Order: sequence, then C-alpha cells, then structure tokens
Amino acid sequence: MNIAVLSRNANLYSTTRLLKAIEERGHKAILIDHLKCDIVIHENKPAIFYKGQPVENIDAVIPRIGASVTFYGTAVVRQFEMMKVFTAVDSQAIVRSRDKLRSLQVMARAGVGLPNTAFTNYSKEEKNLISQVGGAPLIIKLLEGTQGLGVVLAETQKAAQSVIEAFHGLKARVIVQEFIKEAGGADLRAFVIDGEVVGAIRRQGKEGEFRSNLHRGGSATVVKLKRSEKAAALKAAKALNLPVAGVDMLQSSRGPLILEVNSSPGLEGIEKATELDIAGKIVEYCEKNYQKPRRRNTPTQLKE
Ligand code: ADP
Repeated sequence: MNIAVLSRNANLYSTTRLLKAIEERGHKAILIDHLKCDIVIHENKPAIFYKGQPVENIDAVIPRIGASVTFYGTAVVRQFEMMKVFTAVDSQAIVRSRDKLRSLQVMARAGVGLPNTAFTNYSKEEKNLISQVGGAPLIIKLLEGTQGLGVVLAETQKAAQSVIEAFHGLKARVIVQEFIKEAGGADLRAFVIDGEVVGAIRRQGKEGEFRSNLHRGGSATVVKLKRSEKAAALKAAKALNLPVAGVDMLQSSRGPLILEVNSSPGLEGIEKATELDIAGKIVEYCEKNYQKPRRRNTPTQLKE
C-alpha cells in the first residue's frame, strides 16, 4: 500500500515512528505536510496538490493534525475522503474531538462517566455555575486549551469567581468542572485502536501539581487497566467515532471519569513506557480496513 502520514514535521517522534512502521510492514511511506496542500474542488473531480504536484495513488492516510491547525488540517483529510482514500480517523471525528464541550455532550449522551461539568455564555452567572458542579474547589478549563495550559484549580469560591470573571472579561470560553481530588494529580491514558485497548499508562504530575500532562513535567508508567477502565475507554472512543484514540481518564471514587479523547494521540509516552509497537498497530488497522477501490478516483465512482 501507499500510506501517507499527514504531519507538519518529520522529526516528531510519532511521525518518525509511523513512517518507519509503514516501511517495516512492506508499504511505501509518504510524508505530507497538510498545510502545504492545495485543495482543488471541481465537480466530480476532487484533487489535492502538494507543493504544486497532484497527489495520486494514495491508499490510506494517517492524520496527525495539531490542535492549532484543525481547520485546514481537517479540510485536507476531508478532501482525501472525497477522493475515496481511506483515512485512519475521519475528518468529522477530528473536528468533534477538538471541541471539549461538544465531546462532553456526545459522551454524556452515550452514557460515558464524566466529571460534572457546566458551561455558560452568560457572564453574570458565576455563582450558579459554581454551585452546579458542587462548589469549590473546582476546575476551570479554557475550551480551546491543550497540554494542560488553560486548566486552573480554584481552591475557594472567591478564587473561582474571580478566575471565571477574568476569563469572561477576556471573552474566553471556559467550562467549570468538579475537582476530582482523589485522582491525586494522576490520570490514565488508554490507547485505543480498532475497539481494543492496546496499551495504557498512568501519568503522575510532578510534586504539588494537579495536572499530570507530560508537557507539564509529569511522568509516565505502564499500568494494567481495570475492566471498568477499559470499558470506559472503549465506550468514549466509540461515542466519538475515533478508531484510533488516546483516552484520558481520572480514577475517582465513583469509577473512571473521562476527561478527554485525543484524535492525534502522541506515541512517545506510550511506546517508551510500554515498549509496544503502537505505530505498527495503527498501520495494521489501516491494512485491515482499507478496501481497494475498484476504479480509483474515476468520475463514475465519485458520483456514488
Ligand atoms: P488538556 O487538554 O489541556 O490536557 P485536561 O482536561 O486533560 O486538559 O487537563 C489537564 C490535566 O489536569 C489532566 O491530565 C488532569 O491531570 C488534570 N485535571 C483536569 N481536569 C480535572 C478534574 N476535573 N479533576 C482533577 N484533575 C483534573
């Protein structure tokens, strides 16, 4: 197969590993920087040009779209879908996973365990919002934040009120969430591929830090998930229609609570801690699910 990795940087651990895994499994690996793609829309003949050349004969793409370029990155993935190219993750699912509020709504509907969360657009309602999640201490999160930036722990009602006021004053949208104290500054990351948890790590924040993000100095260790944790991870990935996903959850006294589902989960933390070939498993997923089109990119086929 000809498999393209959509990534902005060949030197990133995840990108390098995916390209290598593709070659190791006997395929041709192609790196495409999605920001350097032109999308050409003609009736019945969708095309992508990469650095001026038409992109042709790609069998599958593995999108690695950074949060800051979601709009254009997912437009490129969508264009590959229009060209009937198999994608490891759907453009629509990536878009949805990037919206924290929407993801929580979709997961709640599917019966996934979540921390109690509230959102308001009306900035005079801080007090009500705070009581909706059981009062302080509580977590305030920027809807557009990643890597733990924009996640604040407000210890008191007063602090919570002023932080929410400040964010609202800046016209930043935030969600307010109950603080899961018993998680002890740690969370679990389950790596899901094709309806299976293929590996899991426990991330512990550095001393005195409630955020466990590796980018914030947290450390990762291999963990064996409980059955309820595996089930929660699979349910969350399924609800968001993500066959390849990194599911983050907190261990609470009422069971696993999903924090977020990542549609371009990093491979470094999980592969280094578990010593598993997660990149190879992603490629294997593409091999199994890609179906050779009978007549690729022909107008008749595209009309279907
Ligand atoms: P980001 O997408 O920026 O990583 P998260 O929602 O994953 O934001 O939060 C970052 C970290 O903060 C989590 O990994 C977790 O350790 C901690 N955290 C987030 N929400 C809560 C919460 N409701 N209760 C306790 N800790 C939390």
